[in-house]
Amino acid sequence: MPMFDFVCTSCQHSFEALVRGSQVPACPACGSEALEKQIALPAIKTSSTHGMAMAAAKRRDKAQGQERVHAQRQYELNHDD
Ligand SMILES: [Zn+2]
Repeated sequence: MPMFDFVCTSCQHSFEALVRGSQVPACPACGSEALEKQIALPAIKTSSTHGMAMAAAKRRDKAQGQERVHAQRQYELNHDD
């Protein structure tokens, strides 16, 4: 059953609702059916997964090139001022 995030355009309340068929959910705060369906949730998951993958890649790079990374950091520190 699909679960969507909605934002009420009347009171800006945001909530999750199950949508069955063509049934339109109503805002639990004010009862309005003027809602905007949010499609940001999968994107957040994707970016979070991507961030974890990046972190894992950085850890792997760090383990493989500890000395090189250290030297590079020293260079950057000395070079930055
Ligand atoms: Zn509302």
